[in-house]
Amino acid sequence: MKIAVLKETAPGETRVAATPETVKKITALGHSVAVQTGAGASASYPDDLYQQAGATISTDGGIGGADLVVKVRRPTEAEIGAMRSGSGFASLLEPYGDRGVVEALAKSKIDAVAMEFIPRISRAQSMDALSSQANLAGYRAVIEGAAIYGRAFPMMMTAAGTIAAAKVFIMGVGVAGLQAIATARRLGAVVSATDVRPATKEQVASLGGKFVAVEDEEFKQAETTAGYAKPMSAEYQAKQAQLVTEHIAKQDIVITTALIPGRAAPVLITEAQAKSMRPGSVIIDLAVAQGGNCPLSKPDALVEVGGVKIMGFTNLPARLPSDSSSLYAKNLLALLPLLTDKDSKAFAPAWDDEIIKGAMLSKSGALIHPHFASASA
Ligand code: NAD
Repeated sequence: MKIAVLKETAPGETRVAATPETVKKITALGHSVAVQTGAGASASYPDDLYQQAGATISTDGGIGGADLVVKVRRPTEAEIGAMRSGSGFASLLEPYGDRGVVEALAKSKIDAVAMEFIPRISRAQSMDALSSQANLAGYRAVIEGAAIYGRAFPMMMTAAGTIAAAKVFIMGVGVAGLQAIATARRLGAVVSATDVRPATKEQVASLGGKFVAVEDEEFKQAETTAGYAKPMSAEYQAKQAQLVTEHIAKQDIVITTALIPGRAAPVLITEAQAKSMRPGSVIIDLAVAQGGNCPLSKPDALVEVGGVKIMGFTNLPARLPSDSSSLYAKNLLALLPLLTDKDSKAFAPAWDDEIIKGAMLSKSGALIHPHFASASA
């Protein structure tokens, strides 16, 4: 099949959906790849490297003739208009954020994959773009926090005096949070963490962090069978808030990563808790695009309140464009066999496969995903 790799248009987006390495592998599978001019430039993958890997370069990426179009982010209206009816599309669609795009794709008879809906099962780990990107976001959150913080992370005993180790508190121990704990520890910080999922207690300990949570009956049941956090009761939140209030006041850096799929991010640090931190402390909010874990955070802006610096990042993976593109492109490459007929190499999603059932939003003009099917096009 013909695969089109488009240049991202979202502001600040530096990633690209294919790298020269994956293009080489895709062409070796018998497909042809067209890359839109400059698609990989901001991720340090220039056009000539794609050409050497076997791709053609064109100003529109061959979108109109493609059987499958791939991107990192949602397609624009113009891109949806240019795609061929009956073709496939795959990207991080953020489907809860803009139902209109999902409906427009279905209406144009484009079979669309939302990469964030790839089920979290062992067989799909290599396709799990949420994890590949969250891991890098967690790492980068600590690096950004360290850069904003006006002090050092490790304890240093020097002739001129001793510098205390930074205290870093990670709120939300999913993929990003775990990598943030590991990164902050590598830099020499004293690390603690909290999460509503009981399973994280052991993970935090295994990375050398201290676990901070009210461990009552509700906490013990606070995980869905899919491994996601459940919304917690107001009563639990109040108890947890009290514990966390005392803890936060003593922290230098707080990194929040808590998300609940399809809902606004839970508030984990109130304005008062943020203000209780000493001047020079830093809060990094990774959930700012979903409303934020701290009401003071603003998307991609540094806010200073009483000397506390609050930074909300909407797209940390874009600050590591080469690595995030490389991993995302490999996620797509791993998914390709499930979108291809083995013999003819044509675009043919394996509709009965659990992974395709979980991640495919539309089929032949109809919205088929359980979360969106009620409004069929
Ligand atoms: P996420 O991005 O959805 O959320 C980040 C973290 O915030 C989660 O750990 C969540 O429990 C936590 N959180 C939510 N509300 C909170 C609150 N009020 N207070 C504190 N913490 C709160 O998480 P994720 O990184 O996508 O991971 C979600 C789940 O998927 C985890 O169980 C993870 O282990 C699992 N997972 C499985 C696989 C696999 O098996 N293939 C791959 C990746 C992730």
